[in-house]
Amino acid sequence: MSETNLICNYKKCRKDLNSFAWVTSCSHIFCDYDGSRTFNREKKCPCCNEVLNRRLDIVQINLNPDESFKSMILCGLRPEVVMDISLRAVSFWNYQMTQEKIIQTSSMKRLQAKFEQVKINMETMEYQFQKNILIETKKSESALKDAELQRRKTQEIEEKLIEKSRILQQVQSKYESLKLQLISNTIKSTKAEQIPMAQLQLKTFEGQNEFVFAPNVD
Ligand SMILES: [Zn+2]
Ligand SMILES: [Zn+2]
Repeated sequence: MSETNLICNYKKCRKDLNSFAWVTSCSHIFCDYDGSRTFNREKKCPCCNEVLNRRLDIVQINLNPDESFKSMILCGLRPEVVMDISLRAVSFWNYQMTQEKIIQTSSMKRLQAKFEQVKINMETMEYQFQKNILIETKKSESALKDAELQRRKTQEIEEKLIEKSRILQQVQSKYESLKLQLISNTIKSTKAEQIPMAQLQLKTFEGQNEFVFAPNVD
């Protein structure tokens, strides 16, 4: 709304009025389009539902009257009548301005309420977002701790495995050593036994094959 123009009172229109308009005795004003289509259909105010049946309840006016209109329209009327008409016109203007202020204030309040709601929603979303980040961070930290724990366990197992492998090598080495020693001892003892045996075999051969193998005959 500009400072000097009134607004079409039709809720869905609300455009600035600066040419022809329709005014009603219930102190409402409409643009030419909305006034024409409404009052051609029924004599009822689309704003307050007032029935407007009397001759001057609805008047089409020119908001930018030319000079001759201004010169002639109130001519011949007594000053007090002119003043009375002017006061009524000013009163109409003031009423429109007051109504517009109420509408603007109400609209501003609605917008402010919407803004507050959007702000609350955004704050809630931000809170939820931060909460989710915190949860995810904790999860990541926990996963990292688990991974570190697992790494240490694996390292411990590896160390134990290396130690066991070392012990096994030692045992194997001892086993090999003992085996070699055993073989060596066996060879020595075999050699020691073989000499008298050879001598025995020689004596036996000389003594008429006393020890020569003879198969059993049943
Ligand atoms: Zn309109
Ligand atoms: Zn009305």
